[in-house]
Amino acid sequence: MNAVNSNKDEHKAGHVLIVGSLNMDLVGRAPRLPKPGETLSGTSFATIAGGKGGNQAVAAARLGAHVAMIGATGADSYGAALRAGLADEGINCSGITTRANTPTGVAMIIVDDASQNAILIVPGANGEVTPAAIKQHEALVATADVVVCQLEVPHDTVLAALQTARRLGKVTILNPAPVSEPLLASWLPEVDYLIPNEIEAATLSGIAVDSPQDACIAAQRLRALGARNVLITLGARGLVALTGEDMAHYPGTPVKAIDTTAAGDTFTGGFAAALARGASVHDAILLGQRAAAISVTRAGAQPSIPYLHEVEQTA
Ligand code: ATP
Repeated sequence: MNAVNSNKDEHKAGHVLIVGSLNMDLVGRAPRLPKPGETLSGTSFATIAGGKGGNQAVAAARLGAHVAMIGATGADSYGAALRAGLADEGINCSGITTRANTPTGVAMIIVDDASQNAILIVPGANGEVTPAAIKQHEALVATADVVVCQLEVPHDTVLAALQTARRLGKVTILNPAPVSEPLLASWLPEVDYLIPNEIEAATLSGIAVDSPQDACIAAQRLRALGARNVLITLGARGLVALTGEDMAHYPGTPVKAIDTTAAGDTFTGGFAAALARGASVHDAILLGQRAAAISVTRAGAQPSIPYLHEVEQTA
């Protein structure tokens, strides 16, 4: 582990701040999903650190950045375990508030033998990450080169984080997940890189995204709505990037995927880490894609996220 850490430290140059969610995923497996009112016996159970914010923080740290996080947990054992996990990755947790009367966010996940799942997310403390937390931890924003947000914490907090970061001259990234309705166009000027997947791109643009060609049209539509740069991720088909005047399709790295959980979070964290240390947008996209391609060959969310030296071996 020490050898890995020292190897990582050699590459650490940029600072990434993640503003987002922390969940404990409670994953039970069963032959099939229970019906309403039914009690079923499961075959296995695991608690796995998750939440898009936590996943992206771990990805950015493993992929070479100094990382800090603004978020919240409850004063319970899940919260303590999530913080300990982030601290083990070298992540600065000083912006993570402990809420005395609210539980840590959880995702209760049942997976059946056909790999179908049923998921209940209870945001808990994630719902109490307030705009005041951004003001309180403005020094973390000031230290960052790149600030990354998702939509699993209250939207007014996300907007406050983006506005603060832009005011302080930082690069801002918004991974608009989960998205249920079009964001206000007034948000887009606060975002340097908008990174939706195909479903989110369709919701935001009003254009169905079933192919890289569709993604190009959706990206142009998002540009017309005010987005600066748009990266639409397309799973195994890679991504479409509209950066400046350039539109490009980056095909996916061919791999044998076994579990695509957190592929998008690995991409976003890796892209942010590379931008923060001064890589070109093109190189940052390639790093994020290579890292995400490794993550889909491994099971789980955070356990599947690779370290920078593993990605460099595939280059
Ligand atoms: P998740 O919600 O599971 O985190 P997502 O829907 O946000 O994922 P995707 O578009 O599925 O994100 O994937 C993000 C990136 O990961 C893709 O742009 C691609 O580079 C890589 N990727 C995803 N799936 C595969 C795959 N099967 N093979 C190779 N690369 C993949």
